[in-house]
Amino acid sequence: MATKKITNVGGNDETPQKRTFVPTAEAKAQAGKFRMYGILLWVLAVVAEIGAMVILFKKDPEIALSTGARAVLIIILLIDLILLVAGSMFWKKANRFDPASKQNVLGFFFQNQLGVVVAVIAFLPVVILAFIKKEYLVGAIAALFMVGGGAASADYNAPSKEQYAQQSNYVKELMGFDHVYWTKSGTKYHLYDDCQYLKSDRTTEIFEGGTVADAYSHNSKIKPDINSLCSACEKRAAKEKGWTDEQMQQIKDKTLNAVQNADQTQVEDTIENQ
Ligand SMILES: [Zn+2]
Repeated sequence: MATKKITNVGGNDETPQKRTFVPTAEAKAQAGKFRMYGILLWVLAVVAEIGAMVILFKKDPEIALSTGARAVLIIILLIDLILLVAGSMFWKKANRFDPASKQNVLGFFFQNQLGVVVAVIAFLPVVILAFIKKEYLVGAIAALFMVGGGAASADYNAPSKEQYAQQSNYVKELMGFDHVYWTKSGTKYHLYDDCQYLKSDRTTEIFEGGTVADAYSHNSKIKPDINSLCSACEKRAAKEKGWTDEQMQQIKDKTLNAVQNADQTQVEDTIENQ
């Protein structure tokens, strides 16, 4: 760590240890496409909400809605919910292709949890209006959809540029290159295509190969943290390198910390420069 003075985070991609993750042009394009679909679906969710609000606006608070009108309102809210959750799925998928950086805490939170914000936008106004217009059942359903839709829109395994860079670096330390394998429904990525754990899935599933970032963008079941690296593959690679368990742990810590330290160095530099 001390041998290299870090002057520019992510400025030199040629160094064996990348300080930050940079998505490929292809991944960037995929992310852009998915973000566009996500936003489009979210806009349509808000359009559905406006539709429901128009019906409620016209209602006299003292006269109850007919059963038919109430059913129409609930169906519109259901469409609102489906559009919201579908949009959030695309949004979360996009973040797997092009993750946010943890360096910007607020930016990281909003990029990953934007779906929750949209859930509030897509339901809170209609909840309030329904209660003003004394349409309590509709209001309660809309509130329920807001909470459920928000929970479904949150990203509980938010990916970050730092995690991608750390793990890519560690895989390179172990194998010399960033190439891993995974299955469609597996929750781990592997270093060897003949790994025993991969083999057991092989009969029923097609497995894929690519970079660590590819594994995360193609299989959302793999949590973006170092524990997703198959420990059997990790041990096998270390053994082939001639490392003891202790050496492996040291190299692992050093590699993972290098990216974190890079962040720190940049933050410190920024403070010093001010
Ligand atoms: Zn494995």
